[in-house]
Amino acid sequence: MSKWQHYHRPRHVPEALDILARYQGRARVVAGGTDLFVELLERPPAFEALVDITAIPELRTIRADGPWIVIGAAVTHAEIVASELVRRHGTALAEGCSVIGGPQVRNVATLGGNVVHALPAADGTIALLALDAEAQVASPGGGRRWVPLPELFLGPGRSAVDATRELLTALRFRATGEREASAFGRVMRPQGVALPILAVAVTVRLDHSGQRIESARVSLGPVAPVPFRARGAESRLCGAPAAEESYRRAAEVALEECSPRTSRHRATREYRQEMIATLLPRVVEVAVARARGEAWARPRLEATDHFSSFGAWRAPS
Ligand SMILES: Cc1cc2nc3c(=O)[nH]c(=O)nc-3n(C[C@H](O)[C@H](O)[C@H](O)COP(=O)(O)OP(=O)(O)OC[C@H]3O[C@@H](n4cnc5c(N)ncnc54)[C@H](O)[C@@H]3O)c2cc1C
Repeated sequence: MSKWQHYHRPRHVPEALDILARYQGRARVVAGGTDLFVELLERPPAFEALVDITAIPELRTIRADGPWIVIGAAVTHAEIVASELVRRHGTALAEGCSVIGGPQVRNVATLGGNVVHALPAADGTIALLALDAEAQVASPGGGRRWVPLPELFLGPGRSAVDATRELLTALRFRATGEREASAFGRVMRPQGVALPILAVAVTVRLDHSGQRIESARVSLGPVAPVPFRARGAESRLCGAPAAEESYRRAAEVALEECSPRTSRHRATREYRQEMIATLLPRVVEVAVARARGEAWARPRLEATDHFSSFGAWRAPS
């Protein structure tokens, strides 16, 4: 027996919104289906129809728009990893997407789905947070608005985007420029291809000397009920010398402001705390080295595997 009665493939955003409106809450958006269909294995669907948004050309593009890099919500993780624009100007996102699932998952799963699923551990989402991303939401009637990404997260798996009535259409972040760079790292169980024990993303901008951090953004997951911006750690880094001691202290502050849980399938709270103390300073170090243009820290996306994106980097001693 099929789990839904109707399957729609609109070609435009207004058409998708019209279909959703027609079903009055009894239709649901689907993109790659890698979260939604897993969810359906656990409980029967509360909808009659699926609205597949992957044939809407507007949602499938990555482009530069003035200072912004704009990524359509139905762009796949594989497409993001392959994008020269993202690799160069939003490196943390390319790295985060490169470790999601395995190749089969990355070929169909989308960035928009990763965001709307709203898991505190979602790798693409953690990277977007450190890039200070915004999300564009299209509502019934066709109005669109840009909202800061954190406003979308209401709790574990709970999004402010109502996927029975609205569409997440795009994500955007400011391209990193001179003396600025981002990095992503995660710790993962070796036998797993889903969700990290810990993911960390960092964006830094250095001052003209390259010796001091002018601004920093730090995000972590899963360490709270929603994808988490470590604002205390960011404040600790702003104005600090670009040196190991500063990175270590930022991790100490992050440990105080977040609250990782013990999860049955992945790791204990204590292990996650140890990993914050270990991984966060390393990710900051790589972001700083990239902002300085140091060769050892160049992204090596080809070399990453799905266990950990971070084994590859070692600062020259
Ligand atoms: C084997 C496996 C491994 C995985 N590994 C990882 C991992 O390592 N890291 C990680 O972060 N995730 C992982 N995932 C989860 C998943 O692949 C990602 O979250 C993926 O990005 C979801 O995208 P999707 O297009 O498949 O979403 P879908 O399943 O199509 O949709 C997810 C949710 O978002 C809604 N939705 C989707 N797009 C939109 C939109 N544009 N507007 C409004 N609502 C929308 C849907 O209604 C649904 O509620 C894994 C999944 C599997 C099956």
